[in-house]
Parts: sequence; C-alpha cells; structure tokens
Amino acid sequence: RADLALYQAKNAGRDTLRFYDPQMQAVVSARATLELDMRVGLAQGQFELYYQPQIDHGRITGAEALLRWRHPREGFISPAHFIPLAEETGLILPLGEWVLQAACRRLAAWAQQPDLALLSLAVNVSPRQFHQVSFVAQVLAALAGAGADGHQLKLEMTEGLLLQDVEDTIDKMGQLKGYGVGFSLDDFGTGYSSLSYLKRLPLDQLKIDQSFVRDVLTDPNDAAIARTVVALGTSLGLRVIAEGVETEAQREFLERHHCHAWQGYLLSPPVAVAAFEELVRRTNGALDGSR
Ligand code: C2E
Ligand code: MG
Ligand code: MG
Ligand code: MG
Repeated sequence: RADLALYQAKNAGRDTLRFYDPQMQAVVSARATLELDMRVGLAQGQFELYYQPQIDHGRITGAEALLRWRHPREGFISPAHFIPLAEETGLILPLGEWVLQAACRRLAAWAQQPDLALLSLAVNVSPRQFHQVSFVAQVLAALAGAGADGHQLKLEMTEGLLLQDVEDTIDKMGQLKGYGVGFSLDDFGTGYSSLSYLKRLPLDQLKIDQSFVRDVLTDPNDAAIARTVVALGTSLGLRVIAEGVETEAQREFLERHHCHAWQGYLLSPPVAVAAFEELVRRTNGALDGSR
C-alpha cells in the first residue's frame, strides 16, 4: 500500500536529515500518480456506483451505494485504498459531490418505475466532505438537480465525523432532516463516540459493524455486543441494520434478536445497477407473487 509505505518512510526519516531518499521518492511519486489518476478518472467517467441491497423481512427496501474505480492500467482499485488518499488530498470534495449527484440521479430514475419507486439509497459521506461549509447546499442541489426526493436519501457517517464538531454536525443534520434526508451511523461500535452523542444527534439508524457480525455465533462477546446495539438503538427509537451478513445462521441470530434489517454477501455483494435492479424485481416480485 502506497500510503502505508509513505507513512513508514516518513517515520524512518524523522530523526535523520536526508537530502535524497530514493525509496521515499518512489512512494511520493506513486501517491502523486494515484492522485493525478483520480482527477483524470473523475473527469473521464472511470468511477461508478455499485449497489448492495438492504433487506427487511425478506424484502429489499433499499441499497447502499459503494464507489468503484476502474483504473485503465491498474484495473479495479478498492475504495479502502483510494478513499483515504482522496480524503487527505481534498479530492474527496469533487469525488463526494459526484457520488451524491450520481446517487440522486439513480433515485430519480427509480422513482419512475413502480417496482423500484420505494427504494432508499444510502450514500457514504466522509468527514472532510461533511464539514465543508457548502455541504447542505450541495446535497440539496444534487436532489433538486436530479429531481429526487430527500426522503429516499440516507447519509452514512462514521463516529469520527460526528465527533469533529458536534454543533456543526447537529446543525447540518437538522437542516437536511427538514428535507427528509435520513442519517445512519456506520461501523457503529468501532469508533470512540460517547453514548451521550447518540442522544443529541438526530440519527435514524445504527449500523452494527461487520466485525461484530462475523463471529456472532462463536464469540459470546460479539454476540453480546450485537444484542446490546439492537437493544440500545431500539430503545432510542432508531432502526438497527447489520452489515457483513454472510451466512443464514448469522441472519437468523440477528432476526431472533430483533435486528430490523441487514445487508451482506448472503443475499448479494455490491453489484452494478442492472444486476441490482434485476435482484430487486426477482426478490420482491417473489414476495408479492406469494401473497
Ligand atoms: P462501509 O461503508 O462500511 O461499507 C461496507 C463494506 O463492506 C463495503 O466495502 C462492502 O462491499 C463490504 N461488504 C458488504 N457486505 C459484506 C459481507 O457480507 N462481507 C464482507 N466481508 N464485506 C462486505 P467496500 O465497497 O470495499 O467499501 C469500503 C469502504 O469504503 C466503505 O465501508 C466506506 O467507508 C468507503 N466508501 C465506499 N464508497 C464510498 C463513497 O462513495 N464515499 C465515501 N466517503 N466512502 C466510501
Ligand atoms: Mg457504509
Ligand atoms: Mg460500515
Ligand atoms: Mg467500514
């Protein structure tokens, strides 16, 4: 990983004065190349949204939009790799805005089709993007530009983002909630947020992090955490969704403990839009047909 290598190079060099470090030079230029490639990629349409279904009582009620980058030379590059760099360089601002616009266009297209019209779409928002002064205006412009309804849009934020400037966060969330936009706390339990924020922030949903779901059947601590998050969220009036559900046994455990919804490879990984829409028609169509 280029960013990790740079970090190591930086640390190694901290107490030494070096006029030229070929290894560090290589890492720096690899990052600069990646950054430049991201700018070009954004301009040339190399980014795409994939959709992972979210399931409630067997029905697909929405999707999480996950960014994919098809690099012309390197092939597919994971967001886990380029999002942190985009965040560092500030490129997350145009990239995040593109994601919002693309998501709103998708919602507007779904609204025209009876069997897709009720779907919600969740968009991941990174801290630097959210804390821009113009963030609220950007979301509203994306909705209005596409002709999408804010009630179908959810924003996923992490605990770190919420902690950075709580007053600003509450203010922005409140403004957007006025337009129907929903908020989920992503990767819940892996950050450092204090429970008092859960009370103050106008959230709609908690997402149980996949690291707790993975061993929910074999690790009593993970099972206790998963059950506790469901109980906590429910008593605060929030919906709770589990991510990273890969087996029927995990799904059954979560259902037994009244978790409201789930997403994971058990039904589908994130897929391109055509495959997602086909999956919705098949899954929800089968439910409606059997009524
Ligand atoms: P996240 O928002 O927590 O997304 C969940 C990740 O878990 C996704 O990885 C998804 O593909 C993966 N996943 C879903 N189901 C399963 C499962 O059953 N098992 C396992 N092992 N993994 C599963 P992905 O797509 O690689 O995205 C990684 C992270 O990159 C996301 O974590 C999110 O933090 C970030 N990201 C992705 N798209 C965007 C975006 O448009 N904007 C921002 N700011 N961040 C994004
Ligand atoms: Mg997410
Ligand atoms: Mg997550
Ligand atoms: Mg995550």
